[in-house]
Parts: sequence; C-alpha cells; structure tokens
Amino acid sequence: MAHAFEIRDLHKSFGRLEVLKGIDFAVDPGQVVCVIGPSGSGKSTLLRCVNLLEQPTSGKVFLEGVELTDRDVDIDAARRRVGMVFQQFNLFPHMTVLQNVMISQRRVLKRSRAEAERIARENLEKVGVADKSDSYPIQLSGGQQQRVAIARALAMSPDLMLFDEPTSALDPELVGDVLTVMRKLAEEGMTMLVVTHEMAFARDVADRVVFMDGGVIVEDGSAAQVIGDPKHERTKTFLRRVL
Ligand code: ADP
Ligand code: MG
Repeated sequence: MAHAFEIRDLHKSFGRLEVLKGIDFAVDPGQVVCVIGPSGSGKSTLLRCVNLLEQPTSGKVFLEGVELTDRDVDIDAARRRVGMVFQQFNLFPHMTVLQNVMISQRRVLKRSRAEAERIARENLEKVGVADKSDSYPIQLSGGQQQRVAIARALAMSPDLMLFDEPTSALDPELVGDVLTVMRKLAEEGMTMLVVTHEMAFARDVADRVVFMDGGVIVEDGSAAQVIGDPKHERTKTFLRRVL
C-alpha cells in the first residue's frame, strides 16, 4: 500500500534562508504523527510543503503514491484530498457557521445544496457545535470557531488532515474541547499530521512523534521514545522547556 504521503530530501529556502535542510519523512494511512520543535524550526513550512502551499526548492512530495512535485500533476485535485486546520481559524465572518461549512463543498466539489447541507450538519454534529449552525463566527468562542474550522475541513471528505498548532490561539480552558475532537478523529482512523505543543496529546494520541530543530528531523519515533526517552541533547533541552 502507498504511504498516505511521503517526502524525500525536501529542501526549502526563502531567499538565502534555508528553512528545510533535507527532510525525509513518510506517514502511513491511519497514522497520527505529531511534529514538535522550537519556534522557527520549520514545522509550518514542512506542513505547507505537504500539499504544495509552499513550493519546495528541491526534493519530492508524494501524496498517496502520486508525485505532486511532478509538473504534470493536477495539484488542485490532489489538494482537495488534504484538509488543513490552522492556528487562526479563518472562518468567513459574513457567513453563518452552516454556510462556512457548505461553501467549499458547493464551489469546489460541486455538491448539491441539499447534500452539502446534510454533510455540513453531520460534521457540525461530530465536532459538537450543531446548535451554532445559524450563528456567525464572531458569536462563537475560539474553541467553537476552531471546531467549525475542523468541520469545514472534514466536510470536504479528506484522506489526510494537517493541523498547524490548532490550539495555540485558544484560551487554556477551551483547548480540551478541540483536542477531544482531534482525539476522536484519530480513533476513527483519520490520517493526521499535527504540529502541536500539547505534549500530553502527543503522548496519548500520536503513533509517532517527530522532533524538528533547525530545519532537520532530529528524532522520529514512538511518543514513548521521543518524549519519554529522548536520545539527542537538542530534544532533551526542548522538552525540559515545554514539559
Ligand atoms: P515553525 O512553524 O517551526 O515556527 P516556520 O516554518 O514558520 O517555523 O518558519 C521557519 C523559518 O522560516 C523562520 O525563520 C521563518 O521566519 C521563515 N519563514 C517562514 N515562512 C517564510 C516566508 N514566507 N518568507 C520568508 N521566511 C519565511
Ligand atoms: Mg509554525
């Protein structure tokens, strides 16, 4: 079976700044992988390279066995299979919650209004905000908004979900609800790549933890190995600061 995605010798520079310095990395279907590491180590850039929101400087990216870095590939079709959730929720402020979760289904997937609404309601139910369907984003807490953003991504029926510090902008008391939704998704078998500082979540939910520093992967192993028994001094130093 093909990897859900694979990255081979990925390099990414912004001008003279080399941010990713040769990343090799693969995730199998159903795996949950957490990426940890200090600010500026290239975690977001790595995530954005997975669906080519950033164009790699060199190296290859494969999604379900198809090379995205091949010029002939239909990138938009490939991207549709990848859901992305960011630190900032980026909901459309002038649309209701329901409309936010329907819009891309209608525009991109060309689903009928009835089908898009049914799928939107299903996913809002799943993340626990069905009762907010007719509210506007500003009327919701940050945690509710982030769960709507997750529902919006799930409504596109992705094969893979990427999360970039999904709880970092939330008040501490709202973090748990979002992590609960992510935990449920993981249990249902969703393939997930999660950049996070939530070490308890990584320890409990991740099949693998990847520690990045300075644009390279320093350690890649089970949570018990990487968080519980780190081998490298850089990992130990980082963990001492966050644990
Ligand atoms: P992390 O998510 O681990 O904090 P990032 O991937 O966001 O790290 O950033 C890694 C480095 O790349 C940082 O030094 C950042 O300033 C730089 N960087 C990220 N995106 C850009 C960009 N679009 N243009 C220039 N520099 C960037
Ligand atoms: Mg980042």
